This record gives sequence, structure tokens and C-alpha cells, in this order.
Amino acid sequence: LGSAVLALSMAACSGEGAGSGGSGDKKPADLTIGVSMPTQTSERWIADGKSVKEKLEAKGYKVDLQYAGDDIPTQSQQVDQMITRGANVLIIAAIDGTALSGQLQAAAEAKIPVIAYDRLIRESPNVDFYVSFDNYKVGVAQASALLVGLGVQNKDGSKGSASGPFNIELFAGSLDDNNAHFFFNGAMDTLKPFIDDGTLKVKSGQTKIDQVAILRWQQEGAQKRMEDLLTSSYNDRSKVDGVLSPYDGLSRGIITALQNAGYGGANKMPVVTGQDAEIASVKLINDGVQSSTIFKDTRLLADQAVVAAEAFLQDKTPEANDTDTYNNGVKVVPSFLLPVQTVYKDEIKPILIDSGYYTAEEVAAGQ
Ligand code: BGC
Repeated sequence: LGSAVLALSMAACSGEGAGSGGSGDKKPADLTIGVSMPTQTSERWIADGKSVKEKLEAKGYKVDLQYAGDDIPTQSQQVDQMITRGANVLIIAAIDGTALSGQLQAAAEAKIPVIAYDRLIRESPNVDFYVSFDNYKVGVAQASALLVGLGVQNKDGSKGSASGPFNIELFAGSLDDNNAHFFFNGAMDTLKPFIDDGTLKVKSGQTKIDQVAILRWQQEGAQKRMEDLLTSSYNDRSKVDGVLSPYDGLSRGIITALQNAGYGGANKMPVVTGQDAEIASVKLINDGVQSSTIFKDTRLLADQAVVAAEAFLQDKTPEANDTDTYNNGVKVVPSFLLPVQTVYKDEIKPILIDSGYYTAEEVAAGQ
């Protein structure tokens, strides 16, 4: 990795930019960055859009920020418009990772560099850079948090005091989101030894990603699948002990299904994982209802997107710290990946409140 960074930073110094829009001699006020975000139903994307916009505007650039309401044709249309309105760089968090090839072709023809934001855009040669978190490690962290919650493992990775057997169920995100596969693979690689030795039992038998995925990451979809699982696999007085959930919105749907079925209070709530540290889920963690979440600091991701956009605008190559992981089906896209942190109740204060991400009042109120 170190040598890759060095090689790329040398390329950056040489000033040979990939997909250069030839904007190097223009003033920031003459340059527009198109920012295409998937949805406003999840607060992380609202925070992402806001941070990217504010940080670019602070540097004097114009920003064309659009949200697509989780509708693929809307996102295609919005990106088309950004190109016709003369965007100089595009920053895109795709809804469906394979649906934007036509737009990206048009961008390439207009010499507009494209930065995939958080979610890789697949099956296109015209993705110039990728900024994200280490998505495989997110999955590992989620599975580890499930093991910690069950007492099978300690936070430091050592063996815990509990040995099971525990009944668990698995959930994955939307199959058209490349990240969903990375999260699930990281999680399953971590859980597999415990499933193989009988510590964990997936009672429904549903262990393949296409059996457990939730389209568009929808909370209601997760609630419905959890209800169905309770009816089909836990109608014999057996209990669910843990649920691997890859996103806080799904976790809240799962928790609602469990609560409606009588879990909670004296009837111990299963260990439920999450991701994104959404405020409603942080409150649930604080209240002992949800077990954990994975914090991805979207402020830092926005910073990296701005750094990459600015490099392209100056006809340079952005610096990558990973050049071999993210093959989008056509090429390996140079990437800048950020680390993630697991948050249990004890970490809310040091990680989320002390860093200024949330105030103590917001956590208490859940909003
Ligand atoms: C993001 C996650 C998010 C999920 C649902 C994924 O692509 O990486 O942070 O939880 O989408 O919005």
C-alpha cells in the first residue's frame, strides 16, 4: 500500500491528471461541481450532501447538489442535467451501481472527471476515483460487534465467556449497492468459524446474500422480513439471540418487528448491530435496545471528496491509499478509504459526543 501511495503522489506532483477537464487555469467561482446523492430518507446522505456542498463552497466553487429520492431514472436524469449545465467534476453516490454507464460515457466525452462517492459505480471505464470507507472492514466490525454483544468474543478480539449455541439471523443491504456485498462478505468471513463449530445457528437457514438482502435498504423491508422469520422459524418457542444488521435504518425495522413480537424488557432483546450512527439508533443504543453501530465520519469522507475534486480541477491525479481492492468489473478504481469505528453504549461519549458529531442532548432526545 505504501508504495502505491508514493507512486500516486508522485503522479500527483507530475501534474498528469486522469480525465482532466482542463480547468486548471480557471478561478473556483467559474467552476461547478455536480454532487449527486441517492436519497434523503437516511440522515447520513443528508449530512454527506451538506458537508460536501459547504466544504466546496467555502473554497469558492459552485455546487449543483441533487437528491434522487432513491429512484434510478431520477438520478440518471439529474446527472445528465449536471453534464449539460457544464459541471467540471461530478461526485456521485449511486443508487444502483450499474445504472449510470450512459451518463458516465457522456461525462468522459465532455472530459468531466467522475468521483464515485462512498458507493462504487460498476461496469464503466469512466470512474476516475473512489472515496469511501474500508467496506470489507465495516462487515468485519459488524460481525465482531454481534459476537461481542453475545459474549462470544471480547472487544479486544479475545475469546469471551459465552459459548452458545445462539440463534442468529442475517440481513444484508441492497444487492445493487456494491457496498452491500463487501459488508456481507466481511461479516460472513468473520462469522463462519462460529457457525461451523455450532456456536451460532442461523435458524432460518438463510445464509446467502440474495436470501437476506433488503432492496433499497428500506426499513419497512427489514421489518417485514424479520416478521416473516419470526413466524416461519421461531414459532416453536425458540428465541432469536442476535441479528446481523448492516444499517441502522434496517436495525430499527428489525427492532420494531421484535418488539411487536414481545421482545424487550424481561424478554431479552436480541443483540442487533447497525451502521452509520444515525441519531435515532444512537439513542436506542444509549437506552440498551440496539447493541451497536458502526460510525463512519461523513465529515472526513466529504473532506476526501473535496480533495479529490480539487486535484482534478487542477489537472492533477488525486492521491489514493488503495489501488487494488475496488475492481468495478472493467477496471480497478484508485481509491481513498477511511477507517471506521464501532460504537457500543460506552463509546457514545468518547467517539460521537466528544468529537462534536452529536451533542449529549441530541443523543438523549434521539433527534
Ligand atoms: C453506505 C452505508 C449506508 C447504506 C444505506 C451504503 O452504501 O455505505 O453507510 O448505511 O448505503 O444508505
